[in-house]
Amino acid sequence: MDVKARGYACPRCTVGRCTPQTTTFVDVYHGQLLSKPNTRAYICDVCHFVEFEREMLEALWDELYGDVARDDVQTVAGHKRSPTYGEG
Ligand SMILES: [Zn+2]
Repeated sequence: MDVKARGYACPRCTVGRCTPQTTTFVDVYHGQLLSKPNTRAYICDVCHFVEFEREMLEALWDELYGDVARDDVQTVAGHKRSPTYGEG
C-alpha cells in the first residue's frame, strides 16, 4: 500500500491523489487532432485531473514535429488542462 511513492497530491482538488496510469492523450495542435493511446499520465482519483509527463509530451512532439514545435508545445500543454477525460 505504498501509495505515496506512486503518486502525489492532486494540485487541482488537493484531496485526491494523482497516480500513474495510462490513458489516451488527445489534443489539437495546429488544427490537427492528435491521439496517442496507452500514454502514461498521472490521474487524480477524485477529480480526474490528468497530468501528462513533460518528458512524454516532448518526446511526442519531437516524434511528430521535431524541434520546430517545441516552444509551442509547452504553451499548448500548459494551457489546456484535460481535453476529454473524466466525463463518462
Ligand atoms: Zn483532484
